[in-house]
Amino acid sequence: MNIQYTEEQLQTGKQIRQMAETSPYKYKAFYKTPEWERKRREILKRDHNACQECKRKGKYRKADTVHHKKHLKDWPELALTDSNLESLCRDCHEEIHPERHKRKKDFWTPERW
Ligand SMILES: [Zn+2]
Ligand SMILES: [Zn+2]
Repeated sequence: MNIQYTEEQLQTGKQIRQMAETSPYKYKAFYKTPEWERKRREILKRDHNACQECKRKGKYRKADTVHHKKHLKDWPELALTDSNLESLCRDCHEEIHPERHKRKKDFWTPERW
């Protein structure tokens, strides 16, 4: 089954793939763009700065990360799509990305930008 992307999503996907090919930061370069910075702030505001995973468990914690439910690397078309984005606290985010577990706590996590 193929997802029907909008023209805008296709454009975004194209730009991000291109960025990943040309930047030494690969896909992480996206997290430095003003588009992401704007969208990130918008999503945190939408979620009232609350971690959505904690909220599902009936807790409140301040979110400091905006997570791509469908990962940026595999779904760059959805990089700026609201329904694919979710505010999370650092702990919940680390649980979702187990590959980051071993890193030091203060390690630079790109999605915080
Ligand atoms: Zn949380
Ligand atoms: Zn994430």
